[in-house]
Amino acid sequence: YIKGMKKGNNNILVSVRTRPVNKKEKRWAKEKGVAEKCVKVIDDNIIMIKDISGYKPEEAFRGYREKEKSYAFDYAFNQDIEQEEIFQKTTKFLIEGVMTGFNATVFAYGATGAGKTYTMMGEEYNDGVMLLSIQELFDQIMSVSTDKDYQLKISYIEVYNENIKDLLNGKNKNLDLREDPARGITVAGVTEIMTTNTEEIMFLLREGNKLRTQEATNANATSSRSHAVLQVTVENKDKAHGTDSDINIGKLSLIDLAGSERASATLNSGKRLIEGANINRSLLALANCINALCQKSEVGNQHIPYRDSKLTRMLKDSLGGNCRTVMIANISPSFMCYEDTLNTLKYANRAKQI
Ligand code: ADP
Ligand code: MG
Repeated sequence: YIKGMKKGNNNILVSVRTRPVNKKEKRWAKEKGVAEKCVKVIDDNIIMIKDISGYKPEEAFRGYREKEKSYAFDYAFNQDIEQEEIFQKTTKFLIEGVMTGFNATVFAYGATGAGKTYTMMGEEYNDGVMLLSIQELFDQIMSVSTDKDYQLKISYIEVYNENIKDLLNGKNKNLDLREDPARGITVAGVTEIMTTNTEEIMFLLREGNKLRTQEATNANATSSRSHAVLQVTVENKDKAHGTDSDINIGKLSLIDLAGSERASATLNSGKRLIEGANINRSLLALANCINALCQKSEVGNQHIPYRDSKLTRMLKDSLGGNCRTVMIANISPSFMCYEDTLNTLKYANRAKQI
């Protein structure tokens, strides 16, 4: 039994991770004379958020119950939780399934600056979920029985403005999606690497991240509407009878989503979402698919609108059905980010299995 994962069609695990307050947020709180944090991780599952406007730091979590709200998740991670533990609890259990031919998706959700890239990519000497997953796949491949041949392939792409760009080869742009009978949805012409050298992979991902599209929203902040998708495909076949029909293919999609700030209000409406002028189509479509998958368990068969965006078309064979989905919602605990944080908690709460 895996926490948060029921057997059946709809498998979504929802976790929330809060990062530490940063210097800018500390300065802001000092200037305003308010508490630094509006968020408290109560235990392994519960996060409390409080509208503490006008409150002094020492009063932050005392009294004043009206504007306080708690949300429960499969996991609530405080700022001290290390990358390894995040990986162990949210993603590690997916690896065995991928090895045996199942698909799974892990995505980091949250406003710009909330910690999505830190969670998925990590930093030097502090690997995130992407690299820890690849390492775990290598380890499991080395340790399983020798009667199977495994082949692992990695691709890393960006969806920006409904265009797919190869992050392992910046010149490779405007890529198309194909539906392959054996391999499922694939990105035509994408670079696939087959190395088993994790240092090399780390280097390639880091270089790939530099190719991600950034836009400046104001003088001191960059906002990202780019989704980065790392796909790890694992093929296995019996060594004994190595015909193509014996091949099992599993796919793990690890996604550093675009910032949710612009889409927040729309995402929480709960209805079928329509694209607004300035809102990220792939992010909304993903939210629509997640909402539809969640409702599916309540009202039976329902149409899942995979076709509405590039990202969801790409994930058609990796969300819902027999696939498992993990959401790591990232939040800032700072009162300065109150609106974004509240919106993320509400959205993550809606995404939970009902
Ligand atoms: P996003 O990708 O959501 O825009 P980032 O991952 O780039 O946000 O994080 C913003 C900043 O906060 C970065 O400098 C990052 O190193 C830092 N940060 C994020 N999460 C954590 C964490 N859990 N612990 C320490 N620092 C973090
Ligand atoms: Mg980022």
